[in-house]
Amino acid sequence: MTHVVFSPCIGTKDTACVQVCPVDCFFDVGEMLIISPEECIDCGACVDECPVDAILPEEDVVGTPEAPFVEKNRVWFEERSTEEIEAARMLAG
Ligand code: SF4
Ligand code: SF4
Repeated sequence: MTHVVFSPCIGTKDTACVQVCPVDCFFDVGEMLIISPEECIDCGACVDECPVDAILPEEDVVGTPEAPFVEKNRVWFEERSTEEIEAARMLAG
């Protein structure tokens, strides 16, 4: 299980979520941020920080029109090298 970022982040991307994530598992993929499914500890801290309600637990996104973002999130990590992934990592501060 993981938390997932979906479409309202596009065009917002203010990084408020990054500031509260205890494991630094947000990554900049260009138009939006996404969460590493391998690293998210499901603490939920980011959910209320997002001004456009663009983060939910995966289980709450599956079955909605935003469901494709679950796959998009997972595939982005699968298709990249460790170096590419680390270059996109967002750090609080
Ligand atoms: S749920 Fe917690 S660990 Fe997962 S992305 Fe949000 S703040 Fe980070
Ligand atoms: S707080 Fe929401 S809109 Fe801002 S970067 Fe994070 S997911 Fe995107």
